[in-house]
This record gives sequence, structure tokens and C-alpha cells, in this order.
Amino acid sequence: MQLYLYNTLTRQKEEFVPIRPGEVGLYTCGPTVYNFAHIGNLRTYIFEDVLKRVLAFNGYTVRHVMNITDVGHLTGDRDMGEDKMEKGAQREGRTAWDIAEYYTRAFKQDIARLNILEPGIWCKATDSIPEQIDLIRILEQKGFTYRTGDGIYFDTAKFPRYARLSSQNLDALQEGARVEKNPEKRNATDFALWKFSPAAAKRQMEWDSPWGVGFPGWHIECSAMSMQFLGEQLDIHCGGIDHVDIHHTNEIAQSEAATGKKFFNVWMHGAFLNIQGGKKMAKSEENFLTLENALIKRGIPPLAYRYAAFQTHYRKPMEYTDESIQAAKNGLEHLHNQVRQATGAGFDPSPAVRSEFREKFLTAINDDLNMPRAMATIQEMLKSDLPGTEKCATILDFDRVLGLSLDQVDKPREIPLEVQKLVEARLKARASKDFAASDRLRDEIQALGYEVKDTREGMKVLPR
Ligand code: AMP
Ligand code: ZN
Repeated sequence: MQLYLYNTLTRQKEEFVPIRPGEVGLYTCGPTVYNFAHIGNLRTYIFEDVLKRVLAFNGYTVRHVMNITDVGHLTGDRDMGEDKMEKGAQREGRTAWDIAEYYTRAFKQDIARLNILEPGIWCKATDSIPEQIDLIRILEQKGFTYRTGDGIYFDTAKFPRYARLSSQNLDALQEGARVEKNPEKRNATDFALWKFSPAAAKRQMEWDSPWGVGFPGWHIECSAMSMQFLGEQLDIHCGGIDHVDIHHTNEIAQSEAATGKKFFNVWMHGAFLNIQGGKKMAKSEENFLTLENALIKRGIPPLAYRYAAFQTHYRKPMEYTDESIQAAKNGLEHLHNQVRQATGAGFDPSPAVRSEFREKFLTAINDDLNMPRAMATIQEMLKSDLPGTEKCATILDFDRVLGLSLDQVDKPREIPLEVQKLVEARLKARASKDFAASDRLRDEIQALGYEVKDTREGMKVLPR
């Protein structure tokens, strides 16, 4: 079945066709590690995890790279403002390096709690400074850069169709630029590739470069590292919607200027998590909630948030309220009860995944990751008159995409291998009408603490 994904670059849903058959190169912009991730950030990572799982469900091998932004890029998107890492270090009385390590660990713990699969490759910006310098050098040789008092800049006027990802009105931006503090920039959209350390102060994070001591601009790390680990032409690049206008637009400009080739084929963006009636949750706004204080401290399992995220399509804004998270908690508990009921029928050695529901589920997820529709299909299946064991097999198959650990609900699958083997042997004995062997095997199963029931729906095994 074809997989359709919405591509921000073309502004339409497209059939996904990978560059190399059967394989997908996926790059997702990772966290800036100067503070905890908030649940808005985590919404984006859940969307990306669903994408990755849907690709795997469709049979693709996914080569996934995620960066850790541990170089302090600046609080203003357009290369002005304070250094985020050094600001975090000052706030907490620790070094910028300690801050990066601490919040990287916290981030990895958060994503594990949400069953977000780790990328095959994690890469830290500070580990790839030479690659970033090399890329800037190429841009310099090709004439795309210029020098100002505070750094080396990319001249966006030299790159045709600079705004094609975002459709920004460049004239309006040029107008807005009059209030900007850097009069040396040639165009409002030009961005720093390398920033110089201030002459008077020593930064905690700084490196030598052909242009002087300093640090890379934010955007260059994603271009350098995606090419370093995945190659020059790639399949899918993701992030939150706020990355469209600046970060991803700049990544495309500098990468394509350097290689002369199309960078990524598909660009996908997740919409915001909002709070307080439509306000974006943001680290800078102090309105942000972490997994710890929004859920864990209130006795709500983190997976309830994952479940909540499935109720809204990833391209639509999602509003966080206490009630909505409580409703998600109840919804997840209800789903657990439904799974419990299905598995209450016991262990079935040969459960079947129901193809009509699988097809419906696949149609939903392959329609640009339509999780609300996929969840509706799941309810339809669980409420149908399918035998419990088939419901169970089907939902566990779907859980490869959901990632809700449904196989762990009361550990229904914890029937020991030894018992499972006896059950299978008994099934064979009955099929060949060897009732003496069947009875003997039943006794053996019972001796191990399990009860065998022959029901209309087949053989069931339950703990005694
Ligand atoms: P950051 O750590 O700030 O670089 O952000 C990490 C990811 O979270 C990026 O992909 C952002 O686009 C995304 N993001 C930031 N704020 C929100 C929000 N309120 N809702 C959803 N995603 C967000
Ligand atoms: Zn990025």
C-alpha cells in the first residue's frame, strides 16, 4: 500500500518514494540542551517517532539521525541575543559542558518514558566542529559568504529561491530588518555561519577556525551532520513548525549552495502544543510544563501523553489542559481494560491478525499519519465480535506503531515458554486425534500451574 506524506516543500500530500529502495534516511532536529524538554517539544518527538514506526510498519529500514544542539546558539532566531548554553550555565552555577550533559541525559530519559525509539545515530554539535568548518569553507570558496565585525555570514541574495520552503515575503522582511541590531548584514535573511568570540570575554565553548576563534552558527550543524552521517541527498527531514521559516530554510540554502544538489526530498513539520487558550508552549515564555511536573508528579503515566498526542493530527495545533490530560489517562486505562478483556481469553498459540482491520489501520496511518483515524479503527476492532485472541493479536500488531506497550498490560504474555511448548504439542495431539497424549499434556500443563480450557474459540491457557 502506498504511503502518503505531507511535504512542506511542495505544500501537498505526496506518495513517498525513497531514494534507495527499501531504505529511508531520516534526520530529525534534536533538542537544545540548556533546559528540560517541555511537553510541546515532546509532542514533536512523538510525531517523529510515529513517522519512524509507520515507515518500519511499511517495511522500510530507517536510518535515523538526531542531533543534540550543545553549542550555545543565540536566544534570538536571527543571530542576536544571548548564548543559551552560557545562560543556562550562569543560571545553575555549572559549566556549559555540564549543563549540556545533564540535560542530554534528562532528554534521553524523557523520550524513553514516552517509548520514543532512540535514533540509530545521536550526534552532538560539539563533536562535529571540523565538519561544520569544512562546509563553511566550501561556501566561502563558492562565494556565498561575507565577513562582518561579528562573524561570517551567508548571503541569501546569492541563493535563488531562498524562501521556497516557507514562502516568506522577503520584501516585508527587509522592511522589518531596519529594527535589527546588525547594520552590517546585507539582507535581513542573511544568517551567521560562524560567530566570533567577543574580544573582551572568553567563552566557555569556542574553537579555532580559519576566520578566528568563535563558534558555529546554529543552522550549520544540521547540514554538516546530516551529510556526514547520511550523505548529500536525503529522504526526510523533520522538526517543529517553527523551524520552517528560518532554521530549515537556512539549512536548505547552505546545503544546496555547497553541494549544488537537492538536499532533502521531503520536509515534515509538526504543529505546536499550545496552552492557556492558543499560546505556544515555549522555553522562553516560562509557561512550559515538563513531563515530570505535568504528569509524573500528578500520578499520570507518561504514556498517557503519548496517547493524548494521537487524538490530534500532527499538523493541527493541540491544546493542553488539565482536563485533556486527565481524559487521555482515562482513555489509556480504558484501552488497557479492553486489551485485558481480550487477553482474558488466555494464551492462544496461533492467533491471527485480522486483515480487514489491518488494512483499515494501514490506510489511516499511510494517509499522512492520520492517528485519530487509526485510533477510531482500533476502537471499531476492539468493539467488534472478533474472538478475544484475534483482537489481542491485532492490537499487538498495531502497537508496533502506537508504542503504548500494550503487551505489558498485566503482562498477559507471561506464560512461560515451557508451558507454551506443551500447549503447542497438545494442539498438535488434538489435531491428530491423539486424545491420550492430549490428556497427558493437559496434566503436565496443570502441574506447572496453568489451566487448559477447550472453548468454542479454541484452546485457552490461563494461570490457575
Ligand atoms: P528546541 O529544543 O527548542 O530546539 O526544540 C526542539 C523541538 O521542539 C523543535 O523541533 C521545535 O520545533 C519543537 N517545538 C518547540 N516548541 C514547540 C511546541 N510548543 N509544540 C511543539 N513543538 C515544539
Ligand atoms: Zn536542525
